[in-house]
Amino acid sequence: MKIICIGRNYAEHARELNNPLPEKPVFFLKPDSALVIRNRPFFYPDFSSEIHYELEIVLRINRLGKSIPENFAPLYYSELALGIDFTARDLQSEMKKKGLPWEIAKGFDYSAPVSTFLPVGGFRDIHSLNFHLEINGKTVQKGNTADMIFSFEQIISYVSRFMTLKTGDLIYTGTPPGVGPVSIGDRLVAYLENEKLMDFPVK
Ligand code: MG
Repeated sequence: MKIICIGRNYAEHARELNNPLPEKPVFFLKPDSALVIRNRPFFYPDFSSEIHYELEIVLRINRLGKSIPENFAPLYYSELALGIDFTARDLQSEMKKKGLPWEIAKGFDYSAPVSTFLPVGGFRDIHSLNFHLEINGKTVQKGNTADMIFSFEQIISYVSRFMTLKTGDLIYTGTPPGVGPVSIGDRLVAYLENEKLMDFPVK
């Protein structure tokens, strides 16, 4: 199982990190050891002093596919969830400056919490889904999938040109603006539309 993450998929977020708007999806991988399920705690790592939250919509791939055309992409996922792409921003900035890969900033243990998955058919329109994150009761990040630069279908089509998608693979589809730091003792609560899907502490 692999975890594919899309970067810079919301224009306002790309701007807040001073990144140019991408002409093609930008993606990177996290290992399966990054996954955290069932609202288990996030453990703050000792190698960073600037861990940022990035709340994202996560797709779960439900069949094997390679070079999937956009119009067939909806057949390749039937459930979605919320996830947090935890990022060691201090390490990432250092790696970016040197033109080096981001793995240590993105793929560390506990860096990919994910909520329970909900069937796509249960939503009125998955291309206009509201989601938001609260830390200690205060809303810090808000997004709507209508603001994505690349749609779920474009992402699946693009990624599958380079790597075969397999059942159970997860795709984190990018974060809206408002990313920021977490601290030990924080409580993160995330909602998809009005449903609370994530609720966990930072330890
Ligand atoms: Mg992200």
